[in-house]
Amino acid sequence: MPIPTEPIGSIPRPPELVEAMRQLASGRSSPDRVRPLYEQAVRDTIQRFEATGSPVITDGEQSKPSFVSYPIHGLETLAPDGVTIAFADGHVRQLPRLTAGPFRYRTYADSFLEEAKKHARVPIKQAVISASALSLLYPQGGVPGYTREVFLDDLVREAQRDIRRCLTQGAHIVQIDFTEGRLAVKLDPTKQLLKAFVGLNNRVLERFTRAERTRIGVHTCPGGDKDSTHSADVDYGQLLPSLFELKVGNFYIQLASEKDRGRVLAIIKEHAKPDQKIFVGVIDPINPIIETPEEVRDRVLEAAEFIPLPQLGTTDDCGFAPFGDDTSTSRDMAFGKIKARVAGTKLAAQVLGV
Ligand SMILES: [Zn+2]
Repeated sequence: MPIPTEPIGSIPRPPELVEAMRQLASGRSSPDRVRPLYEQAVRDTIQRFEATGSPVITDGEQSKPSFVSYPIHGLETLAPDGVTIAFADGHVRQLPRLTAGPFRYRTYADSFLEEAKKHARVPIKQAVISASALSLLYPQGGVPGYTREVFLDDLVREAQRDIRRCLTQGAHIVQIDFTEGRLAVKLDPTKQLLKAFVGLNNRVLERFTRAERTRIGVHTCPGGDKDSTHSADVDYGQLLPSLFELKVGNFYIQLASEKDRGRVLAIIKEHAKPDQKIFVGVIDPINPIIETPEEVRDRVLEAAEFIPLPQLGTTDDCGFAPFGDDTSTSRDMAFGKIKARVAGTKLAAQVLGV
């Protein structure tokens, strides 16, 4: 396809899998009973993804507990009472708190990729969580015998390993989920926190070559859980200039749900570097109405007025269920929207003559 188009990652899990995960979490089921449901969900998701015509797909994150917690799920050195993230509708998500070092991932994302490759016929991208998100596991009060500095060294090494294993496994792109970027501006308007996050993620990225970084990307959004956001009220102008400091070749930027897209596009135009590819969000996963291909086409044409065509791609604003238990969007709705993204991007390419 002349204008590249890619998903973000997650697809809502089948209801029977969500129920089985709930039973497993409460000790009323066993991993052996849930495993076949995971396998079935991955197979079905890939089949339906390919049917949308999307040239790049994911496994829909069917077996990730969430986009952020997959590496640490089941670790014994965690307590449940970590940092909370407040969403606009009043619900909160809480991260665990690290209780002891050394910090190691329990699961690397290439394990999902390996499974997905068994079923897919088109390129698969793999989302990983940012080092900056996982840095929030370390408590303000410290961890006995394990300094924050040593923790960050361990974290950088683990985050690098997570990305490298996915590259080695043949991921089309490894996408770093950086939803806490925009949130950081809300938590600290002086932007010191955002700067620290960008700096930490660049410590990971500096361990890759320029060529490798063309296969690495970053996703920004205001959060998306239970049809609500955590930082949509933060001005994009406060985030985007710092975002483009990240040493990656691809940016997946929520845009469809922005009130003033032209203003955001102008900021992107000003700050994106010539070797950075910009995938603009043309689908809003939170809006319960499926976009028409013509609507998508017009959003792409609007973006093409600001972003040079060789740098332009399209994506969804966010995943459709970043947290595994989020059932606010149906699978049919998610795939319908993806189909519209693919069709609308093709229409735009025809208009633009590419
Ligand atoms: Zn997102």
